[in-house]
Amino acid sequence: MTQEIDYTFCPNCGSKFTKMSPNLLECNDCHLQFYINPKPTTAILLINQKGEILFVVRKNDPKKGMLDLPGGFVDINETLEEGMVREIVEELGITISSKDLTYLGSSVDEYSYGNIDGRTINAMYRAELSENSSIVPADDVEDFLFISPKNIPYDKLAFQGMKDFLKEYYPRV
Ligand SMILES: [Zn+2]
Repeated sequence: MTQEIDYTFCPNCGSKFTKMSPNLLECNDCHLQFYINPKPTTAILLINQKGEILFVVRKNDPKKGMLDLPGGFVDINETLEEGMVREIVEELGITISSKDLTYLGSSVDEYSYGNIDGRTINAMYRAELSENSSIVPADDVEDFLFISPKNIPYDKLAFQGMKDFLKEYYPRV
């Protein structure tokens, strides 16, 4: 489960908040109502011709060096699909058409780093890689590797929500 993150001060006037409910804070002075919502992110199962999943190695903290799926935060004014396509280009140097994305479902996670409040809601997609995809890791990706769904190293995955999602998507018999 994700931990609850408390904000202390109103971003409008700097006075203290009172917690009205788990999702709502209200400023004691200006009465600003501040809702606590997750940030939307995307991630994708890119599957090669052998049925293996592309995992990336994180270049930066949080979770530097751990395995992750390609994806990231959705920008202002982007759809989930636009964000997904952009992240794939940025991280892997390949273009996947939004028409080739299959939506699988969503997971919730925590991404706390520095002063970033980390509750995320992650839209999971799937797409097949063509044989001649020439992937060049870039941006916040150090490297990539293909792993069979049978051998997913759950202890090396960066985020709990993604682990939970993969365990349900690829149940072990
Ligand atoms: Zn205020």
